[in-house]
Amino acid sequence: MSRKFLIAGNWKMNKTASEAVDLIEEIKSSVGDQTSVQVCVCPPFTSLSQSSESVEKSEVLLGAQDMNAAQSGAYTGEISAEMLRDLYVSFVILGHSERRQFFGETNQIVNQKIHAAIGNNLKPIYCIGETLDEREAGKTLDIVRTQVREGLENFPTHSIENLVIAYEPIWAIGTGKTATDEMAQEVHAEIRKVLAEMFGDTSADSIRILYGGSMKPENAAGLLAQKDVDGGLIGGASLTARAFVGIIEAAQSA
Ligand code: PEP
Repeated sequence: MSRKFLIAGNWKMNKTASEAVDLIEEIKSSVGDQTSVQVCVCPPFTSLSQSSESVEKSEVLLGAQDMNAAQSGAYTGEISAEMLRDLYVSFVILGHSERRQFFGETNQIVNQKIHAAIGNNLKPIYCIGETLDEREAGKTLDIVRTQVREGLENFPTHSIENLVIAYEPIWAIGTGKTATDEMAQEVHAEIRKVLAEMFGDTSADSIRILYGGSMKPENAAGLLAQKDVDGGLIGGASLTARAFVGIIEAAQSA
């Protein structure tokens, strides 16, 4: 089963709308027409509208960083899946560790969001990963197994081609510490094993599992060479075209 690499940039709370457009234009000028690697940028909500116009007629896809599970209603400050679809958003990051840490999101809450995303034809990028304490206590595989099982409970197999998972060890996010290639492969293989138990081998083989956590041009090639690493979710290094494109180029030659 060949899985196309996906390189997705999580811009977090960075870039005004005009800065977002400038960065997308720079990314497009290097990799806007290539199709060997799928490329996605995830600006903040306030930049999505202008970013949507900027990615139009290019191969760069648009993602959001979160959404509410409800279809509509009295949820002050929230954004629905339908609103994202209306802006031609393709992917939505769900369950990022910063959402879990600062906004109290649990596997159950994220599960509801994943169902809402799928129901509205958005592709969830479901983030999982362990803390440093959990790794040092030897609990990494248990933690990610539970996150996969609970976050993907009742996920419809017929939508499996829309599912992306991002393994992001929390101790590696924004810290400059990266999992070694072997550490990443071990966890990715375990995630695929759980996916096979839940959805069968063929489905599990088709699901892309991204690595996230201080990925940069210098370490991307080694990580992307791993059998079960199908791309990257990039934070800091997605904020400049030079670094982000460097990672896309590493994926092109992996
Ligand atoms: C992220 O937050 O998804 C991430 C991977 O960040 P960074 O690349 O900065 O570690």
